[in-house]
Amino acid sequence: MKKRTVLITGSTSGIGLAIAKAFAQQGHNLIFNGLEPDGRQIAEAVANEHQIEYVFDPANMLHPKALRTLVRQGEQRWGTIDVLINNAGIQHVAPIADFPEEKWEAIIGINLTAPFHLTKAVWPAMKNQHFGRIINIASAHGLVASEFKSAYVAAKHGLIGLTKTAALEGATCGITANAICPGYVRTPLVDRQIADQAVAHRISESDVIEKVILAKQALKQFVPPESIAALCLFLASDAAATLTGAALPIDGGWSAQ
Ligand code: NAD
Repeated sequence: MKKRTVLITGSTSGIGLAIAKAFAQQGHNLIFNGLEPDGRQIAEAVANEHQIEYVFDPANMLHPKALRTLVRQGEQRWGTIDVLINNAGIQHVAPIADFPEEKWEAIIGINLTAPFHLTKAVWPAMKNQHFGRIINIASAHGLVASEFKSAYVAAKHGLIGLTKTAALEGATCGITANAICPGYVRTPLVDRQIADQAVAHRISESDVIEKVILAKQALKQFVPPESIAALCLFLASDAAATLTGAALPIDGGWSAQ
């Protein structure tokens, strides 16, 4: 694959970091982002290991102006963002009747509205060069629901809707847009859920993993973050030029049911 400039939100932890490492290994220019306090050092370590050019910007997904600056930084340095990977996301688990309104706003803002602002910001330069790849990290929860996750399920379903619309609008200008829908991946986001569920159900963390977390996945194992990264590399490659508007499950058979 030609050397690309790749912006990955939330790339200093979990799935985003695995995606960043995979693109770094192939020598692409990277724009790292994330709110981890040691994010700058994490980005630097990946870049140094693979001798790539990079930028780190802890832009907050809730601030549209910061998102436009994030894109502009990459464009000023490399001319264009070739691949946008909307990965930053948060979760909150509570019944609708008790769901805190500020958590709803934050989940919709980070998981859905930020990908819209970033897609809008990268669009003109992608269109101009007649090449662009937009990859949205949705979730199995973009395809099916679970109780107590109203905001997350709504945001991820919405993200798949945004993906399909971007695919249609991008079809005449060399831009593809796809969503990846992972099942459970063992990251800090899921570790927090395991700990919370153990308290809520009064069971051990290993019982939470077996009886709650992996209950819906036919393959009773977590999805490795590296598998999601490999799928992103494929979607960014020339071989995926006609793959657009898809919501691709990588969920151990969860959404097959
Ligand atoms: P994670 O908590 O390890 O990483 C999330 C990243 O997003 C972090 O870098 C964090 O700093 C960043 N982030 C959060 N809020 C932000 C904000 N306001 N501004 C900027 N950055 C912010 O989580 P993860 O599991 O790696 O999740 C990554 C994506 O994958 C999310 O969109 C999540 O919904 C999705 N996903 C995760 C799983 C899973 O099982 N872990 C499954 C399906 C989908």
